Amino acid sequence: DSREENVVDTLYNGLLSSNRACLAQSITLTESTHPRKRLQARSLLKKALQHCKQCQEKDNSYSFRIGLSGPPGAGKSTFLENMGKFLTTRGEKIAVLAVDPSSTTNGGSLMGDKTRMQELSRDMNAFIRPSPTSGHLGGVTRSTNEAIIMCETAGYKTVFIETVGVGQSEYAVADMVDMFVVLIPPAGGDELQGLKRGIMEHSHLVVVNKADGDLMEAAMRMQYEYTSSLKFMRPISPNWRPKVMKVSSLTKEGLPELWSVMQEFHETMLRTGELVETRRKQQRVWMWNYITQHIMQVFREDPRIKDNICRMESNVEQGYMTAGEAAEILLHHFVPNSML
Ligand code: GDP
Repeated sequence: DSREENVVDTLYNGLLSSNRACLAQSITLTESTHPRKRLQARSLLKKALQHCKQCQEKDNSYSFRIGLSGPPGAGKSTFLENMGKFLTTRGEKIAVLAVDPSSTTNGGSLMGDKTRMQELSRDMNAFIRPSPTSGHLGGVTRSTNEAIIMCETAGYKTVFIETVGVGQSEYAVADMVDMFVVLIPPAGGDELQGLKRGIMEHSHLVVVNKADGDLMEAAMRMQYEYTSSLKFMRPISPNWRPKVMKVSSLTKEGLPELWSVMQEFHETMLRTGELVETRRKQQRVWMWNYITQHIMQVFREDPRIKDNICRMESNVEQGYMTAGEAAEILLHHFVPNSML
């Protein structure tokens, strides 16, 4: 038992001294499904959470959690590499947590295997973590939530959470962060056009990347288009009007201005209390997300249910049974003594 506590204490002290290896190990611990390690992880998370709470209450020092999404090829790694370096040069410690929802659903990965953010990964003030691979989205989002706490405890007060694509699971990340940013290429074609509404609805900030050279004109057009369609959107927050900005991650043009706007957002959200309020709500929502996802998984994998799912689905589809009846039968297999 005391050996267990030792493991936790060593990691915790490592986190407090901002040791990157300890941070990596701590995150690995939270991703483990091994029962003993889960207990250690829980104990470590408790200490970490307490530490973060103290920082917030004593110094009113809140981290900044930024979600960054965008289709493959938009330039997310280039952006993070150069924005990251811009920030570390100014003495900030930044963490980049990658989440790849595609790898959990089809085994493939949109992020690819190329070594991303090579320079930033050698930077002592940066911490980069690839996507956890623990199966389903529920597992991935839990790990990400916990990884954020670990990073913050280790003094990484700016945390980017990067996801690939714009769609359902990417927006799940919007519920984990203070600010949701979508990076788009200047010429997205029809595919992006169809996603425009969704992008506008979820983003605090749309960044048109690659505003350089031959692409400048297209980037300006894109910025104009998105800015005009903003006028018809319901505001995402009472304290913030979403903005559309253009940058070149390659030449770094516009990155300092972009960072100023991001900081302005953070300060506004802190001043108005919206940041704290949103985080509270997010935690409550996630608790229920975990429960729902976990119960769904247990349900689907239950031997009494598993073999009947296909049959019931087909019964319902073909009109032999009502949806309600089929659901009742399946649920009754799962909780036989319930009063359904
Ligand atoms: P990701 O898939 O979103 O991570 O995109 P990458 O960062 O890998 O970038 C995809 C391609 O776009 C690469 O060839 C980059 O060099 C290029 N790229 C990224 N940012 C810019 C930019 O600001 N301007 C230009 N011209 N090319 C860029």
